[in-house]
Amino acid sequence: MGLFDRMTDIGKGASEKVANISEVNNLKRKILYEEERIVEIFADLGKKYYKNPDEDPAVFRALCDDIDARRRRIKKMKFELNTLRGYKMCPKCDAENTEKNIFCGVCGARLPDPEDEDFTSLEENDYYTESSNQFFNADSTGNIGL
Ligand SMILES: [Zn+2]
Repeated sequence: MGLFDRMTDIGKGASEKVANISEVNNLKRKILYEEERIVEIFADLGKKYYKNPDEDPAVFRALCDDIDARRRRIKKMKFELNTLRGYKMCPKCDAENTEKNIFCGVCGARLPDPEDEDFTSLEENDYYTESSNQFFNADSTGNIGL
């Protein structure tokens, strides 16, 4: 292999890395956007209820569905993000497993696979968002630490 070949090889690797980084940043931005929207919808939900608790339940339902749709989108994007970084995160113990693993090397739980039918189902313990976490935590414990 000549020097020139080696150099172009290095160049190729670098541009792939750059593409990877911009893809990662792109996903991070999209996840952040969805997280911010979820917080806004939560606030909207509260305001609507405060103004008129007797509002048509379908109005509240639609907002809840919107939150769920965004949480599913975030779940998928976080999975893609981890895949780009070369690992699968265990949904049970948060261990980082290699992409090829089907089961967690630490706790043995089945690792998520986007091909699964229930991949985008929202489990109780699915915490996707930094900022909206506090809302989900408040839900599950009934205690918001006031
Ligand atoms: Zn695990």
